[in-house]
Amino acid sequence: MAEVNATRGIDGLLDFIDACPTPFHVVDRAADVLRASGFTEMDEADEWPDAVGSRYVRRGGSLVAWRHQTSDAGFRIIGAHTDSPNLRITAQPDTGQAGYRQLGVEVYGGALLNSWLDRDLGVAGRVATPAGTRLFCINRPVLRVPQLAIHLDREVNQKGLLLNPQTHIVPVWGLGLRTPGEFALTAAEAAGVDADEVLAWDAMLHDLTPSVIGGIDDEFVYAPRIDNQVSCWAGLQALIDAPADSPPSAVLCLFDHEEVGSTSAQGAASTLLPAVLERIAGSRGALHPALAQSLCVSADGAHATHPNYPERHEPDHHIAMGDGPVIKRNANQRYATDAVGEAAFAAACEKAGVGHQLYVHRGDMPCGSTIGPFAASTTGVTTIDVGVAQLSMHSAREMCGAQDPMDFALALSAFLNAAG
Ligand code: ZN
Repeated sequence: MAEVNATRGIDGLLDFIDACPTPFHVVDRAADVLRASGFTEMDEADEWPDAVGSRYVRRGGSLVAWRHQTSDAGFRIIGAHTDSPNLRITAQPDTGQAGYRQLGVEVYGGALLNSWLDRDLGVAGRVATPAGTRLFCINRPVLRVPQLAIHLDREVNQKGLLLNPQTHIVPVWGLGLRTPGEFALTAAEAAGVDADEVLAWDAMLHDLTPSVIGGIDDEFVYAPRIDNQVSCWAGLQALIDAPADSPPSAVLCLFDHEEVGSTSAQGAASTLLPAVLERIAGSRGALHPALAQSLCVSADGAHATHPNYPERHEPDHHIAMGDGPVIKRNANQRYATDAVGEAAFAAACEKAGVGHQLYVHRGDMPCGSTIGPFAASTTGVTTIDVGVAQLSMHSAREMCGAQDPMDFALALSAFLNAAG
């Protein structure tokens, strides 16, 4: 069993999350880690005479990496997603009202809007220039969404907070009159390019509070984007630790756009994974027998039982932090796991020396989903939905157990190392 190096332990996870305010930064960071571990980048626009060895390819906010040996033993695949719900800068963002300069935003995915109020916010993303895209990140509190004072909303604690996504969450970033072009100028400066080179952007807000270990016995992680950067990080550790010279071939795919349904040019419903697997296999003729022997893990956050709302959970599927990876089942295939997959991943957990838990959503509430059903249906591979137990899912700041990410990495490592 591969040991996950202590220097890549929980502090490594906190660093990873703080360095990755956007899907583009996740892909950039993952590429850095992979290159440092001997992986070589491939370009989708090139012919690939062969894809044997340790390689990776990027497509926007998505990345696929693999360790492939010439064998007919199929693939062990780990999928996760790089995006998290947040507020995204509009195409013509410079706006303002009542003496404030503000930036227009759109809600991305199922964000808990209240969690974005009264936070010190930075902005990051990528700009498109004539020479290609450039990343930028402003880690200064340039933006804030001020909550309405209770004196102006006397019933908020009795009736609940209602937020209109068009009018109530427009962040302020200065005083004075709206200044057309100001956001483009700011993004250009942060990206290190001239203002007239910025043609467009994909930009989003992030909370500046650093990720920390919390709890009286240091048993928790408090951080943004735990869903799903914990899985990206754990999958990356597992791939790096996967054997380079014994089958099956290990594959890691990090997909953008899960939070908005995965149907995009680089989401889990796209051609990305099947196209790359075909190119790794060498031909369509070699792909299909390989797929028939493959297994896939869809790694994504799981709901821990909430101590203040135990009635929101299925009473016979209690989920605790610190009790190991959570295998998710749903009869209606919102999660892809079946009995065969569940048994395979439970065996990987046992081999890794970590426990596992079984999650089922309450029958009287609609269940969320993951990339699992998309990975399963685009490849035909038995897929297991599994992840780390967490609270506050889709908040700007979430929490999980401090031991669980490492245990998850060990279980994923055992899953990839099928022959070990
Ligand atoms: Zn997720």
